[in-house]
Amino acid sequence: MAAKMSVAARKQMPSALTFDLLAKCSQTLLTVQVTKARASTLHLPHGSVPLPIFMPVATQASLKGLTPEQLAQIGCKLCLNNTYHLGLKPGQAVLEQVGGAHRLQGWDKNILTDSGGFQMVSLLKLANVTEEGVRFLSPHDGTPMLLTPEHSISLQNSIGSDIIMQLDDVIVTTSPDRERMKQAMERSIRWLDRCIDAHKYPERQNLFCIIQGGLDLDLRRKCSVEMAARDTPGIAIGGLSGGEAKDEFCKVSVIPTSMVDTCTGLLPENKPRYIMGVGYPEDIVVSVALGADMFDCVWPTRTARFGNAITPSGTVNLRHATYADDFSPIVDGCTCICCRPIQQGGLGITRAYIYHLAAKETVGAHLLTMHNVHYLLSLMDSIRAAILEDRYPAFVRDFFNRLYGSASKIPIWVVNALNGVGIDLLAE
Ligand SMILES: [Zn+2]
Repeated sequence: MAAKMSVAARKQMPSALTFDLLAKCSQTLLTVQVTKARASTLHLPHGSVPLPIFMPVATQASLKGLTPEQLAQIGCKLCLNNTYHLGLKPGQAVLEQVGGAHRLQGWDKNILTDSGGFQMVSLLKLANVTEEGVRFLSPHDGTPMLLTPEHSISLQNSIGSDIIMQLDDVIVTTSPDRERMKQAMERSIRWLDRCIDAHKYPERQNLFCIIQGGLDLDLRRKCSVEMAARDTPGIAIGGLSGGEAKDEFCKVSVIPTSMVDTCTGLLPENKPRYIMGVGYPEDIVVSVALGADMFDCVWPTRTARFGNAITPSGTVNLRHATYADDFSPIVDGCTCICCRPIQQGGLGITRAYIYHLAAKETVGAHLLTMHNVHYLLSLMDSIRAAILEDRYPAFVRDFFNRLYGSASKIPIWVVNALNGVGIDLLAE
């Protein structure tokens, strides 16, 4: 592979982050002889962030329903912006003029941007991928456009995000075409080399590579080794979520855990590992056990707009009439601004109020968005505390027992994935 030859000649890439590994789960370490669950702190240009972390998705430089101030109040220290959308509007010239996305949205904490490639392939039916880049027709006026690795990095340089992602060749993970999958994986490596060469500000923006290879363990292994050799400041694992395509009301939450396990087993210990597009609570708890550090998903904010509240025992739809006279908080004991009693400085919002607002007033969706994002962020805090105190297996058992009501109802993919790292959910 041509890409392989160039890596030795490449000079070491500067990094704009430091990664402090603070604790490893002794149980998962003991069982598989490699670090799995871990807690760390990632120091980025706009402040330190605790890992493992969930990153809310603010597609258009705005988290739907929340102001930047509210997002900061919830405790968010790193959110996502979308390169494809920002590149279309306000566009690169305006971003350059205003001095980047932090200024544009009044956000002084960290931002991660995707490459824009995923949106093209998932949103635009006419996208066509060649070695040069992704060709597509502008959704505005239908003119032919081309997103290359160089163009994606140039856009992300103008956005000024703290973490930028390489352009990768994205195909549907479940594609049966192994040749195409192999081609996409190898092309993603070549595109990473082009992204590294095009990156203008490595001393203030951290470029992450993306491991591809679909559901083929051999391709994933090869890609992990090649990507790790490029020595980017952080490493992402792509193509593991149905992400945007997952059905809102009939979610099938099965992430291919063997892919996560295989990749993390081959990656250097001293770099953050980001699993793209994965963000259901159960997926996060399992993936952390398998050695992942960073997650993002549109689900918590999107599902809020359908009246769904995330709770420790699963998702609850507050549009249901049974909540019309339910005067308890969304989640008992939740410390978010909505659920917290007025006496404790919160809003004291009840399920009945959300039911009353649902479908009529957008404020109902805003309140649920705050609760849901807070729920994910505080779940991450609990995960991190459990790892730091070396009681992650007990935390995981408690989490799944509460979510499914009893150990016998926990899905088999969860039981198997956790068994692989020495956490037995069915133990008495
Ligand atoms: Zn709450």
